[in-house]
Amino acid sequence: MSAGPVVQLPTAYGDFQAQAWTDETTGAEHLSISAELPAVLDLPAGEADGRVELAPLVRLHSECLTGDVFGSYRCDCGEQLAYALRRIHDCGGTLIYLRGHEGRGIGLANKLRAYALQEAGADTVEANEQLGLPVDSRDYAAAAGILAALGLHRIRLLSNNPLKQSQLAALGIEVAQMVPVQVPSRAQNVRYLRTKRDRMNHTLNLPSTSAIAVIPPSSTTSISTSTTSGTTPTSSSTPTSDGRGAQS
Ligand SMILES: [Zn+2]
Repeated sequence: MSAGPVVQLPTAYGDFQAQAWTDETTGAEHLSISAELPAVLDLPAGEADGRVELAPLVRLHSECLTGDVFGSYRCDCGEQLAYALRRIHDCGGTLIYLRGHEGRGIGLANKLRAYALQEAGADTVEANEQLGLPVDSRDYAAAAGILAALGLHRIRLLSNNPLKQSQLAALGIEVAQMVPVQVPSRAQNVRYLRTKRDRMNHTLNLPSTSAIAVIPPSSTTSISTSTTSGTTPTSSSTPTSDGRGAQS
C-alpha cells in the first residue's frame, strides 16, 4: 500500500484532509478523508462512554457509483456516505472510500445485471446467486492496511454491518464500538434493506411488513418507477427513528 500526499479537500460537508492510497497487489486506488477532532466534542447520548470516547470514528465506505454519485434510491449507499461525512466532520475521524467494492465486489456491470434480476422478483442475495457470483466478496485487507498506516488501530466503526467488525479484528484492527448509521428507508429500497437485515445480519430498524404492504406486488418488477406509485409518504417517513437503537 503506497500513500500519496495529504491534501486539503473542502466539500459541501466541510473541510477535510484527503490522501490517496494505491494497493499494489490489486491496482485499486482508495481514498482516505479525515477531519480533526473538534475542540468540544458533542457526542449523542450513549456514545460518551469513557472507555471508547478516545477511539476515532471511522467509516469504511464501499464504492457505489449509482448511490454515491447519482443518489440512487435502489440502495442506501449515497445517504450513508452523506451521513458519515457529516458525522466525521462534526466528531472528527476518517472515512476510507474503498474502490473495487462496487456491488459488494461484483462490479458495476454485474450490479446492474443483478438489478435486472431483482426487477424480475429476486432479492439482492438471490440475484447474485442466479448470476453465479458471490453475495459479498469485499475484502477489507486494504482498509486495515490504510488504518494501520494512519495509526488507527482502535476505532469506533460507523456501520450497521457486524461482519466488518469481525473481519477488521482478524486483520488486527480493534473495533471498540459499532456506531449505527441512521438513514431513512424508502419505498424503492425497503426490500433491499430488509434483505440486508434478514440475510446479511445488518442492524437495521425498518418499517414492519404491514407498513410497507401498500406497495403493490407488481412493483417488484418495476422498482425504478415506484416513486409514482403513491407509496412514498409511509415508506420514506421517520428518518430519525430508522436505524436507531442498534446496539452491537
Ligand atoms: Zn449502493
